[in-house]
Amino acid sequence: MYAKIEQANLDALRVIHYPDPRLGEISTPLERVDDRVRALLNRMFELMFTGRGVGLAAPQVGINVRLFVASPTFEEDDRQVFINPEILSVEGKQEGEEGCLSVPGVNCRITRGNVVTVRALDAYGEPFEVTAEEMPARIYQHETDHLDGRLLIDRVGTVARFAHRRTLKQLEAEFAAS
Ligand SMILES: [Zn+2]
Repeated sequence: MYAKIEQANLDALRVIHYPDPRLGEISTPLERVDDRVRALLNRMFELMFTGRGVGLAAPQVGINVRLFVASPTFEEDDRQVFINPEILSVEGKQEGEEGCLSVPGVNCRITRGNVVTVRALDAYGEPFEVTAEEMPARIYQHETDHLDGRLLIDRVGTVARFAHRRTLKQLEAEFAAS
């Protein structure tokens, strides 16, 4: 929903943390890409690079629209934008460690597809398709999960979740106090 972007105070945006309910919502496709959306994307890149992340989805800044930014190489000029992304195909498997700026202090081993093809709109509303493997493929799947209200801790079993219970409890206490 474009209105959510129009109403947001971009400077005041912050990365929100588990268990904020906005992280569990299914986000809505964006119907318009303009300067205001590009300003949001810039702000998201700023928050992502500051947080030392390689991807950030709009729900993580409290805006439930379907878009995310990424920089698999963590280079300032490697700025990738995916608006209304759709994963068209997933092939093979990879297992690896994942973290999330919205669940600080938690790293989980997660199995993901190894090669994915994603279709999306770029920062100018132009459609594109990209096929990626390993690290970028992992990021695109992680960020698309955010758009469907799914966090990395929803992808692991109860044993792995139990291993992080202290950190999760602490995040729950911080959220309750905020
Ligand atoms: Zn994340």
